[in-house]
Amino acid sequence: MASIQRRKTVTVSVGGVRIGSDATVVVQSMTNTDTADVPATVRQVAELARAGSELVRVTVNHDAAAAALPRIVEGLEQQGVRVPIVGDFHYNGHLLLKKHPDCARALAKYRINPGNVSIGKKDDDNFRTMIEVAIANQKPVRIGVNWGSLDQALLTRMMDENSRRAEPLDAREVTLEAIVVSALDSAERAEKYGLRADQIILSAKVSGVQDLIDVYRALAARCRYPLHLGLTEAGMGAKGIVSSAAALSVLLQDGIGDTIRVSLTPAPNGDRTEEVIVAQQILQSMGIRSFTPQVTACPGCGRTTSTFFQEMAEQIQSYLRQQMPAWKQRYAGIEEMRVAVMGCVVNGPGESKHAHIGISLPGTFEEPKAPVFVDGRLRTTLKGDRIVAEFIEILNEYVESHYAERTEAATHA
Ligand code: SF4
Repeated sequence: MASIQRRKTVTVSVGGVRIGSDATVVVQSMTNTDTADVPATVRQVAELARAGSELVRVTVNHDAAAAALPRIVEGLEQQGVRVPIVGDFHYNGHLLLKKHPDCARALAKYRINPGNVSIGKKDDDNFRTMIEVAIANQKPVRIGVNWGSLDQALLTRMMDENSRRAEPLDAREVTLEAIVVSALDSAERAEKYGLRADQIILSAKVSGVQDLIDVYRALAARCRYPLHLGLTEAGMGAKGIVSSAAALSVLLQDGIGDTIRVSLTPAPNGDRTEEVIVAQQILQSMGIRSFTPQVTACPGCGRTTSTFFQEMAEQIQSYLRQQMPAWKQRYAGIEEMRVAVMGCVVNGPGESKHAHIGISLPGTFEEPKAPVFVDGRLRTTLKGDRIVAEFIEILNEYVESHYAERTEAATHA
């Protein structure tokens, strides 16, 4: 694993999941079902949890959603899915939490957006009410600022103050500072009302990569609360994935970030678990945590004019993902296995030797045979139509013989 110096924070427990510098970086996600639809929400939370989400957030936006929460938690327990559920509150959280005490109890954490919790009020009674419910139920909160719903009174005041300076900052700098101030002031008020520091997580999400990096660096320097990272409204497909990876990687490399979410917009009828896979892949690519065996595959070039090796790389990757739920239960350290599927002799044998197990397929005009390397040594050479099946057999043997059963000492041989 990478030797990244994590920023020191207090540690917060969210339904038994520890968040902070003493704990590993936690992956979380959010449902997009109608929370009041209990079967659909239970189904999606279970899917996200099985994909590896360690916390799942659901919106709690009206009475029916709040009333559904205890049944959602119960439904998950009946399925043996143990994942803390976080309630996302906006505008009326103070009303819902007071009116639905079972919801307040069932949730593992409340997310409060300080920008819209006390809109239209002179003081912060609504915010205070939510904090008092959290204290009474011994729940942590995430104070989650989002620049799309930033406290406009605060921003206006800071813009006015800035305009009176001899050398005013530009509007971007003032806005980013207002985001940081909103998070820190809210946390200070929460502590004043009696919430402990180890019940507070902060986030300050924006949708621009450089803005996110600047905001979190400022926030990290000015508090010891754990930080939840995420690029808000990251978008769809490659844009969302790359932007999130770029922003989160810079911050994680700085040791900033105790829990992450990748806010992807799924394609219509797309798989919501993609955001979990991407978050895991960011952490694993950076050497921070391991979740699943990694397949190294070359991009192919004019030496691989057939799609055979692309299909094989895909089949191996899919096979590994399918096996992982069972393998994870059974084998210790399996998530750190590295597999290489390479397209020709140029880099194939070399890359395969660096993997635990690798295969170098024949490129165009090469002799039709595929050497297989195990722990850096040539193990066999495959030929013919059953190359994929035979490689998977060798892979299974490797897993069986190199990874200890979970009940035994969990060390990688
Ligand atoms: S390993 Fe061979 S096929 Fe793959 S990109 Fe390199 S030269 Fe091309």
